[in-house]
Amino acid sequence: MNDEEPRSGNEQSSARGDLPRPPERPIAPIDEEESPLAETVVTNPLPRSDLDDLAGPLSQTLSGSNEPASDFTAPNSVRAEGRLDETPTPPIAEVSPALPVAAPAAPAASTVVPEGIPDLPKSRPLPRIIALANQKGGVGKTTTTINLGAALAEDDHRTLVIDLDPQGNATTGLGINSRELDASIYDVLLNEVPLEDCIESTSVRNLFIAPASLDLAGAEIELVPAFSREMRLRNAINRVKDDYEYILIDCPPSLGLLTVNALAAADEVMVPIQCEYYALEGLGQLIRNINLVQRNLNTALELSSIVLVMYDGRTKLAEQVSAEVREHFGSVVCRNVIPRNIRLSEAPSYGQPITTFDPSSRGAVAYRELAREVHRVST
Ligand code: ADP
Ligand code: MG
Repeated sequence: MNDEEPRSGNEQSSARGDLPRPPERPIAPIDEEESPLAETVVTNPLPRSDLDDLAGPLSQTLSGSNEPASDFTAPNSVRAEGRLDETPTPPIAEVSPALPVAAPAAPAASTVVPEGIPDLPKSRPLPRIIALANQKGGVGKTTTTINLGAALAEDDHRTLVIDLDPQGNATTGLGINSRELDASIYDVLLNEVPLEDCIESTSVRNLFIAPASLDLAGAEIELVPAFSREMRLRNAINRVKDDYEYILIDCPPSLGLLTVNALAAADEVMVPIQCEYYALEGLGQLIRNINLVQRNLNTALELSSIVLVMYDGRTKLAEQVSAEVREHFGSVVCRNVIPRNIRLSEAPSYGQPITTFDPSSRGAVAYRELAREVHRVST
């Protein structure tokens, strides 16, 4: 097995040598695109809660009708902050201080955190509920959820993966056939099935999954008129969380109600960032949503970690992205990076995490190291 083999398919566009982009060009700043959040605040004159801003244009259209949009009242200050259209998008350096991130223990002035310098990260009590979120698709959320979960389980930490993506990649990636399920996370969110009734064990000891099924695709819409629609996952998790040390929630690639449920249920958000061009695009939007959820639904929520994934040390670009992200997010960025490793992309089709599929691969080693880094601050 050769971890360094040339990449194939769409990975090739960023391979060394065939990049048409000049290397000097700066990495795309956070959120230069017109924000859908801003747009909907302006165009929808109906009284709405700020959670509608989070739930995306579709649910806003639906919830703008008759029923109360949400079971909480957002303070005016949040509303004001939501008017992104009137505020020019701040450059990346101005975005980070407003983050609900874990306070860096060591000053984070340098671009790359030097190896060997101990930091004093915030300690976090078990059980830890971590949402893996990034509204971009294909950035490594599911790969990180499955393999971080498996690596934690391998270290004897009882871990539950919750698959909140209708695509169900975490479910199939852990060897569960979604067509054979009696109950799935959809039933937990919409049919009041207790979470414990849908949890399946996996081939990995200590690793469990609350699987997704195809009907989860409809949940985004079906949740709109539902009572306590943002808190359903949180309420369900509350009843099982003491059975686990870690609960990892694999979010869909959107900022709709499913992701809001994940953010409302979690203590921490872990954001995988692909070491590619436009890596930071959309991050500002995600951060604003984390802020809104923190103020309105879940004061405990923090952006606790950013993981650099698909890191290809042979490219300058990966180094640039890494340096840029570390410069602006400091110690929130995990020291361990996940390399681009073909075995990581092969493992899901065998229904196995990398730790059992190819235990000595670079991907397996990297996720084990990441798991230890994550666990190091647990109390
Ligand atoms: P997301 O859940 O954010 O949509 P995935 O985890 O499904 O992203 O990853 C997208 C694709 O990239 C998948 O085909 C996955 O196998 C592949 N992939 C993810 N991480 C790596 C990695 N470190 N090295 C190689 N391929 C990876
Ligand atoms: Mg995914």
